[in-house]
Amino acid sequence: MAKPTEQLISQLQSRLDRAAILVGEAIDPRYGDDLSGKPGERPEVVLRPRYTSDVAEILKACNAACQPLVIQGGRTGLSGGARVLAGEVVLSLERMTSLGEVETTASTIIAEAGVPLQAAQEKADAAGFVFGVDIGARGTATIGGNISTNAGGIRVLRYGNFRTQVLGVEAVLADGSVVSSLKGLAKDNTGYDLSHLFIGSEGTLGVVTRACLRLHPKPISQAVAFCALPSLEKAMALLQFLRARLGTLLSGFEIIFDPLMSEMTEALGLQAPVPLTTPVYVLTDIQGMSPETDETVFAEALGQAIEDGMVSDAVVSQSEREFQALWALRDDCNTYLFGLGPMLSLDVSLPLPRMGEFLARARTTQNSVDATARDYIFGHLGDGNLHYCVVTERPDAVAEAVFGCVAQAGGSISAEHCIGLNKKSYLHLSRSDAEITAMRRMKAALDPNNILNPGRIFDMSA
Ligand SMILES: Cc1cc2nc3c(=O)[nH]c(=O)nc-3n(C[C@H](O)[C@H](O)[C@H](O)COP(=O)(O)OP(=O)(O)OC[C@H]3O[C@@H](n4cnc5c(N)ncnc54)[C@H](O)[C@@H]3O)c2cc1C
Repeated sequence: MAKPTEQLISQLQSRLDRAAILVGEAIDPRYGDDLSGKPGERPEVVLRPRYTSDVAEILKACNAACQPLVIQGGRTGLSGGARVLAGEVVLSLERMTSLGEVETTASTIIAEAGVPLQAAQEKADAAGFVFGVDIGARGTATIGGNISTNAGGIRVLRYGNFRTQVLGVEAVLADGSVVSSLKGLAKDNTGYDLSHLFIGSEGTLGVVTRACLRLHPKPISQAVAFCALPSLEKAMALLQFLRARLGTLLSGFEIIFDPLMSEMTEALGLQAPVPLTTPVYVLTDIQGMSPETDETVFAEALGQAIEDGMVSDAVVSQSEREFQALWALRDDCNTYLFGLGPMLSLDVSLPLPRMGEFLARARTTQNSVDATARDYIFGHLGDGNLHYCVVTERPDAVAEAVFGCVAQAGGSISAEHCIGLNKKSYLHLSRSDAEITAMRRMKAALDPNNILNPGRIFDMSA
């Protein structure tokens, strides 16, 4: 692929501030890849706009020069979407970090694309609200990256995924035109909802520059339970039972299978909340508005679950400190797994009634490909979403085997980590030819020169 031309760079130098353009040795190697485990190319140019108008200037010039760009937020993506390919210029949103004040009447906040998720969460909290998405990479992942990947996380059960939190998006199209929908209107049926085009489309249709985000009332009571369970079936039964018994009080329902739980606690030197003697563990919590009754209702429901044999053992948080300490076990799963070094990391979703059948078939198939493979499984059971990580010498063959089982069970090969570069060869397992053709048409209409994140999700030629 051709190098970015001197002419393009000098053209941009005349339009952007000095800090907006990094070239050659000034470029830190961290701009080359994301956290998906494969090394990217070292970019020759990194563009760091400060304003939406800068992004518009950059895209106009790059489009005229047919210069491909890779868009970067916090580079915490796990599918290679922000990884640099040869010849690409990096467009990093890291300097677009303005965060507006909370609009308390409408319960909204406007954030620039480079704002870290945690900053938006903290600003909402200080104003008496909660932001509905939480993920382990909250400190580094950005609002723009979250929108482009339609991030999920531990609160989807209660508030929905990122799409549900977005009232409107401002984005710059490949030709430099700006489309903006930041009025914060809950209802606006005036033609196509362009904002939704940019949510989950992995930067292939436009560059997200700002968003109007929805906030929720901050809960005033909360408690989390760590439960040991005899089987996945009992975990499903517990989910169904707590949903019926607690309604919207139920806020999270995460699963951790062994050996991950016992290996992780041992390796990180953690004290297990209960003796680790069962194959399945669940972290489940409530968030409500009635402190005098919520925790009692939760404790009674868990007591009933133990009596009915769904739960073998459980610990419930009695303070904010215990709440945070139990939830930290969920983030510890990522810490432990990242520490194990390169591994196959899949993120699949299944229809809940077929999850058990999937797991049994996947294990058998995986073992037939690599008998020494070791899997570590955890995830957002409330959303039918499992993070399926495998230490294996044959990652490609195991991925193909497990994805085949996902397709057979009617699931999705990517629940929340998207397709990026890493999973595009499997896209056909989750999307039909007609769907992929429609996606290509949309891409061609909005980015005819294929300059925005080319080759992510799918290639333009079949
Ligand atoms: C420890 C850990 C835990 C995680 N937990 C979760 C989880 O629970 N749920 C979940 O969904 N994900 C999770 N992730 C994955 C990752 O954090 C999310 O995908 C996140 O939304 C990526 O945000 P980012 O700013 O880092 O984006 P990047 O990695 O920089 O980019 C991701 C994609 O979005 C595009 N992009 C970035 N910014 C823009 C923009 N402004 N406009 C257009 N396109 C853009 C990029 O080109 C790329 O294709 C986790 C990752 C880690 C490391």
